[in-house]
Amino acid sequence: MTVIYSSKFLDFGEVGHPESPQRLELIYHELRDAGLFHFETPSAATLSDLLRVHNMSLVEQVKRNEFYNPDTPNIENIYSFALLSAGAALKAISLLEDGREKRFTYALARPPGHHATRKELGGFCYFNNIAVASARLLADGKKVAILDIDVHHGNGTEDIFRGKKNIIYVSLHQSPLYPGTGLAQHDNCFNFPLPPGTSMDSYIEALSLGLRQIKKFSPDILGVSLGFDTYAQDPLAEMRLYRSDYRIVAGMIKRLLLPTFFVQEGGYSQDIGKLAKTFFSELI
Ligand SMILES: [Zn+2]
Repeated sequence: MTVIYSSKFLDFGEVGHPESPQRLELIYHELRDAGLFHFETPSAATLSDLLRVHNMSLVEQVKRNEFYNPDTPNIENIYSFALLSAGAALKAISLLEDGREKRFTYALARPPGHHATRKELGGFCYFNNIAVASARLLADGKKVAILDIDVHHGNGTEDIFRGKKNIIYVSLHQSPLYPGTGLAQHDNCFNFPLPPGTSMDSYIEALSLGLRQIKKFSPDILGVSLGFDTYAQDPLAEMRLYRSDYRIVAGMIKRLLLPTFFVQEGGYSQDIGKLAKTFFSELI
């Protein structure tokens, strides 16, 4: 499995912010030390990649550092980091499309993306990485399913693809929780809101229903918005998944037998590296 990663993803951040460079570093070290993965570096996404899913006004705001959002820091040069993060998701699909990888790729990148809507940044996200990659797959004539297992609803991804052809969005998330969306099914967007305190048994039930929708849709490729903030010790949410549970989740995704690209979203505990290692070791 190829992991797309760059040490440049560690070069920005705001002191005390939960979306820290350390999160990615922990995952990178665990996967590197496991010795099971091949690493490649990304190149930046282009403007035309971004404009498939975002409007020019959002792109310009990020580029010129002309925005304010309480959760999403206005950091010098954030535009170039956000482009590289979207570029990692694009590389993850390129490897599958050109056959260099048959089954799995992983964009180990930050900033995350699934809260960025067509017109607005938010929730630590500037550009929607998984949407940028999925939109290119759609342009290439592919049928795409997105499974979002971050603990937060991917309001941005839903906003971008709701009502669009050849794509479905399936999300499992805690509710109530930021951003407060994803309470019901909307067109091609299948939402599974789960109460705080949800444990693995109920999580598996919801995941099985979500995966059934994906099977029924029969996509050419699956994108997974991967968050490890469903973990019981995560400081930003209240779900009750434990380390060994990620093995089960990986196994269920693997049994879909689809070419799959994973895109890193949230996960804020100190154990994030071990969770990722458990998940990906099971997968491959
Ligand atoms: Zn999250």
